[in-house]
Amino acid sequence: MSKKRMLPGSPVNRNDLLDVTIEDFTREGEGIGRAGGYTLFVKDALIGDTVRARITKPGKTYAYARVEEVLTPSPDRTEAACPEARRCGGCRFQEYDYAAQLRWKRRLVRDALDKIGGLAGTEVLPVIGMEHPFRYRNKAQYPVGTVKGELEAGFYAGRTHSIIPVRDCRLTPEVYADILGTTLAFMRHFHIPPYNEQTGEGVVRHLLIRSAFSTGEILVCPVINGRKMPHANEYVSRMLEIPGIRSICVNINTKRGNVILGERTESLHGEPYITDVLDGLTFRVSPRSFYQVNPAQTEILYREAVRAAGLTGKEVVYDLYCGIGTISLFLARSAKAVYGVEIVPDAIRDAKENAALNGIGNARFYAGAAEEIVTRGYFPEGEPCPAADVVVLDPPRKGCDAALIRAVRRMAPGKIVYVSCDPATLARDLKLFTEEGDGSGYRVERVQPVDMFPETQHIETVVLLRQQQYRSM
Ligand code: SAH
Repeated sequence: MSKKRMLPGSPVNRNDLLDVTIEDFTREGEGIGRAGGYTLFVKDALIGDTVRARITKPGKTYAYARVEEVLTPSPDRTEAACPEARRCGGCRFQEYDYAAQLRWKRRLVRDALDKIGGLAGTEVLPVIGMEHPFRYRNKAQYPVGTVKGELEAGFYAGRTHSIIPVRDCRLTPEVYADILGTTLAFMRHFHIPPYNEQTGEGVVRHLLIRSAFSTGEILVCPVINGRKMPHANEYVSRMLEIPGIRSICVNINTKRGNVILGERTESLHGEPYITDVLDGLTFRVSPRSFYQVNPAQTEILYREAVRAAGLTGKEVVYDLYCGIGTISLFLARSAKAVYGVEIVPDAIRDAKENAALNGIGNARFYAGAAEEIVTRGYFPEGEPCPAADVVVLDPPRKGCDAALIRAVRRMAPGKIVYVSCDPATLARDLKLFTEEGDGSGYRVERVQPVDMFPETQHIETVVLLRQQQYRSM
């Protein structure tokens, strides 16, 4: 029922209805509309829609709202593939035509470069999208819990920890629904309780599934609050009835809080990793290592990074934030030497194994914070960092540390290839790279977005920066 609550100074109230036309999206993919000088952020509203919006959170000059009714649909409005698309926090754009998603993502990158990076007029190439923008994810992490007294699993509703039951997420392979359903049936049969975030009691917290699309190998890993998975043998035999399951692990996480994976992983069946092949290179992926979630687009992304690096076989290349060494090994095939740096020691272990697995001898890997190693100029083993021809950066969403950017500028590589999953921090960092300052500034030469995350508001971008005095090369 609509309970009217007046907020002091606020021209609208919770539950008020307002009609607005949506002009843009926020970076989180909410529709932006204006009603009488008042800005509304409307969940599930699309650019080009006129909607009746119900206010959910009023403020002085803006308010949050959700779609009560679409009055005039956007020409880009389509049917969602998943019935839970609106409630689930994963997909913001299932009702938005894919070509329109790509156009908006390109504009998002352009606007960030312009407004945050001070790089107005920089050309942003059209986004490289997918032909089939569904079932592209190789990894899912389903929270397991109780919904209305029933054991359930699915995804969190946007910005909350309440579980929206979803069996068949349209972004993952269909077999994941089977694995999830079989896991829940197993838990019901043996009365294994799900974890309860409030009390810290119960056993199964999450179910992690990863697969290698090229080899068909699947890894299943329940995350449990306790030392042992009850009835583990029975779980293994039920899982092995599902085709493709190669590896069954349990991850142990007995800590309170919302970090999904604990530090320890134990194998119940098979090796504790799966093997994937990207562009002819083999990679071992363990449950805890970072690995790109969209393998089809990852190949394209990495090829774009290699192309931007423009290697001839003579270059010394750094791959900072290298994860399990994927980009490093792509680069190593056409470089003199590659130095990979990554903060997670497990990932560095995987990277070294991956180099050996592919018979690549010109890539070396070091565990440590990129900003510390590059600033200091020495690798953890005490060896000085050699001069760089090309530096590749692929930081997490928060972008690069300012100290790292200063240190990379001092290294003065001819080219920098910045692979980013957040246009805002990318633009902030590009500003620091392109500032003239000491006369060694860089110039943005190519900006290529790649859609790694269809149906969501996220976008990956590869940027080539060239040192100004190298321009004639
Ligand atoms: N290039 C890799 C990984 C990119 S994800 C790939 O494509 O698979 C970003 C990586 O940066 C993660 O593996 C994360 O562990 C690592 N990382 C985060 N902060 C870091 C830091 N300060 N120094 C080095 N690596 C860092």
